[in-house]
Amino acid sequence: MILFDFSSLLLGISFSGCAMCVVLFTAWLNARSESFLLTWCLGAAQLVIGITLFSFYAAGMNYVWLCFCAFVFLITGMTFIWGAAWQYRQQRSPVKRIIKRAALLLAIFTTPYLFGLSGIGAFLLNMILALLLFASAYEFWHRRHEVFGPIMGIIVLYCMVAITFICCAVMIAIESPLVMTEAPDNWAERLNAVASIMGMTGIGATSLALHQSRLARKHRHEALTDPLTGLVNRRALFAIYGNHDMPLNSALIIFDLDGFKQVNDRYGHDRGDKVLMQFAQVLRENYRTTDTAARLGGEEFVLVMPNSTSLVATRVAERIRKQFGEMEIPLQHNDSFYCTVSAGFALADKEEMTLEHLIREADAALYQAKRSGRNRVLPALSA
Ligand code: GH3
Ligand code: MG
Ligand code: MG
Repeated sequence: MILFDFSSLLLGISFSGCAMCVVLFTAWLNARSESFLLTWCLGAAQLVIGITLFSFYAAGMNYVWLCFCAFVFLITGMTFIWGAAWQYRQQRSPVKRIIKRAALLLAIFTTPYLFGLSGIGAFLLNMILALLLFASAYEFWHRRHEVFGPIMGIIVLYCMVAITFICCAVMIAIESPLVMTEAPDNWAERLNAVASIMGMTGIGATSLALHQSRLARKHRHEALTDPLTGLVNRRALFAIYGNHDMPLNSALIIFDLDGFKQVNDRYGHDRGDKVLMQFAQVLRENYRTTDTAARLGGEEFVLVMPNSTSLVATRVAERIRKQFGEMEIPLQHNDSFYCTVSAGFALADKEEMTLEHLIREADAALYQAKRSGRNRVLPALSA
């Protein structure tokens, strides 16, 4: 029993493609940084054109050129869809790769047409589309750790549609291996049409979900990161350690750059910013993966080190102080200057010590370090 004729099924894919294009284009307009959505839309738009042209061919407009044009759009469109997947993985512009790959694939596909072998052309088209779909799935496979469920869903959909294209290729090889006189209409083509409708809507909707989840992660990251130094900020530090007592034997070191107001006054705010970045780099070079380095605000930084002793905290703080103090900060005309840092630290050596408590104690030690001449590390009285 045939419920729909083949060309109506093809128009069904075009409609679902159009709908997805509109949805994803709107999403892209709202967050243009995620340009993989735009690439996907451009690809889907070309697929829609290709499928619509092919539906005319299937409806009885038996012109070889019409079929050829439809297939060209399908190849370029699917190359864009692959490009979108590549862009999602690499976060870089896929334009060059799309152009190169589309040119190569079009050359391969066009060759049999030059000899009038439209059957071989159609066979190659289906194989090329299947390969591009598998290649897209492969790109997402590398990102599966990001949001496992939706990405695996996308991979399954790409592979499902790819397999139906291979079925179509096999049927063409059986039914019209050399020359194709009319649009093939068999179980493989219909299965492929239904899979394409599901694939187009499913992949489109899931891409939207991926986009939203990336956006949410980006906003969260921005809210917890200090934009100047790239270290976590005060809010993040309190999110990590602020809701419970500090783990026993954690050390907390507060660093405060010495005479930093003067650095700004003498060399300018921009140079001051560079000094802050340089200090953050020194911090990064000296902490373990289990430690947390944060910019508390202004020229104050914190290093939290779980499983530490007073000795370890002193050693790390001294190393940072020394390394930073010896760091030449370049100015124009081969000139340079040096900056120093003072630090105070405290140890969570008993139960029920909070982050605030530890910061207060380390701050008192820092105050003493400043009073006793700066460029030194002092422990809190309890440490
Ligand atoms: P002390 O040795 O006692 O710590 O003296 P100080 O000059 O470092 O301390 P003070 O608190 O007087 O000055 C801190 C300066 O840090 C003042 C402020 O303009 C500067 N500052 C705070 N945030 C930034 C920033 O993001 N960039 C720059 N360039 N300067 C900043
Ligand atoms: Mg300060
Ligand atoms: Mg200071």
